Amino acid sequence: MKNRHSNTPTMEQRFVTHFPGDESGSTLPRQTPEVFYSLVKPTPVPSPQILLWSEDAAALLDWPRPLDRKGWEAQVLAGNLELPGSRPYALRYGGHQFGHWAGQLGDGRAIALGELKNSQGALWELQLKGAGPTAYSRRADGRAVLRSSLREFLCSEAMFHLGVPTTRALSLVTTGEPVLRDMFYDGHPELEAGAITTRLAPSFIRFGNFEILTASGEVENLKRLADYTIATHFPELLPPPGESLYLTWFKEISRRTARLMVEWLRVGFVHGVMNTDNMSILGLTIDYGPYGWLDVYDPGFTPNTTDASQKRYRFSQQPGIGLWNLARLAEALAPLVPDPEALEGAFEVYRETFADSYQAMMRHKLGLSSWKGEADDILLRDLDQVLRSTEMDMTLFYRALTLELSPSGAGISAAMREAFYFLPNEKLEADMSAWLARYRERVLAEGRPIDKVKAMMNQANPYFILRNYLVQEALDALARGDETVCQELLSALRTPYESNAVTQKFSGRRPEWARQKPGCSDLSCSS
Ligand code: AMP
Ligand code: MG
Repeated sequence: MKNRHSNTPTMEQRFVTHFPGDESGSTLPRQTPEVFYSLVKPTPVPSPQILLWSEDAAALLDWPRPLDRKGWEAQVLAGNLELPGSRPYALRYGGHQFGHWAGQLGDGRAIALGELKNSQGALWELQLKGAGPTAYSRRADGRAVLRSSLREFLCSEAMFHLGVPTTRALSLVTTGEPVLRDMFYDGHPELEAGAITTRLAPSFIRFGNFEILTASGEVENLKRLADYTIATHFPELLPPPGESLYLTWFKEISRRTARLMVEWLRVGFVHGVMNTDNMSILGLTIDYGPYGWLDVYDPGFTPNTTDASQKRYRFSQQPGIGLWNLARLAEALAPLVPDPEALEGAFEVYRETFADSYQAMMRHKLGLSSWKGEADDILLRDLDQVLRSTEMDMTLFYRALTLELSPSGAGISAAMREAFYFLPNEKLEADMSAWLARYRERVLAEGRPIDKVKAMMNQANPYFILRNYLVQEALDALARGDETVCQELLSALRTPYESNAVTQKFSGRRPEWARQKPGCSDLSCSS
């Protein structure tokens, strides 16, 4: 099997070299106290083939596009061939799931290969998701189905191009090995196509990596992991006099998490499973499972059927959950600081960062150069009311808002009407018109050139988002042997703020058939 790299890339292994691990290689499900990871070989698959390839992610590794979909890259990215220097491992972590401590979890179907250094000197960790069982797979198979892999692959790249911090996706490889899944958890498992996604991130360390060490009373290990994480991924941190470096670090994690929550609100993203094992210590969006996007503006929306009754992870609750998760991390870090209560000071940092970033974000969405305190708070509160009462598409609404700014533009524009899922009755139409008139007056009073205002808004309000139904259509096409929709989506998501030939095709509101369809409005955790 040949590769076209002038030199076969060699992996670095900072994590595995730095920490003790369980070196047995066994995939017998078990608790692994006192280690940070378990070494594990990916389980080979019969016929790997690259289905999707992210040029942008590949550029981070200086990887040329594969010429042959079944060639060297497919073998490497399916786990069949090992890169020199690789010592594959699964991370040990725990987590709070749906509000309760769940004990040890760990990478049950993600296998880290090690890090690759690019020509700029940046190190990227490569992880195969769906590459077979590990010590943390419990009773599951360590595999992933094509539908969830495609959702993760496309969404990682979509989020990156939207400007939202995220792990990246390099490739999606089909394995040729079917996987048995009970998609609706109703006792009817079926064989589905299997796939492996290669993810990239500076690190995949989660809140749960720290939680498991404290929960197990491994304070020395906790300190080692914190010291490594800070030195490797937060080298710029400098504590003010008298402050513990761990507290300075925790404040930075709090800031990053707050900003991430604001970004999700900006683009209408609902993660769906904000358990602490799915919270990146770097403030990245990680683990794309039953996520979704607001089509209709509904702050109470969650796509995750497992969370349908409680709606713990609904759209509007994400900032509150971000803070709850940070509180669990603070408990985990408490043994490291002389005054654990000081960690609570970071909750104020979170609240302030969130409030400031949220206001700045809404200011950009609305095209305002400054925020006029209470008057603008009220304008925003009333917008929320109008949007909630009218079944409007969030993305189309904000994008159409610029058209309401032309001085002659009295009434609701045709583009704005496209955002309605139902034609509004007279009262709702009057409420909407009244709000738009107030808004127009507010923006025009600033006296800025309208072109500038529109440009500002169009950088904050995406023209195209990766709605769940679009990925479902791509999957339906794949099932018919047609890859074009996948490829077109991958191309469209690279320019989400532009109206152009590729994005226009996917820019409409969600069609009615997708309202209640599994995979479009509802998603289970089965993946
Ligand atoms: P998630 O809800 O996807 O974040 O997964 C929670 C835990 O279950 C993590 O430890 C995963 O690694 C593990 N897990 C999920 N699906 C599988 C699978 N098919 N095989 C093994 N482990 C899995
Ligand atoms: Mg997870």
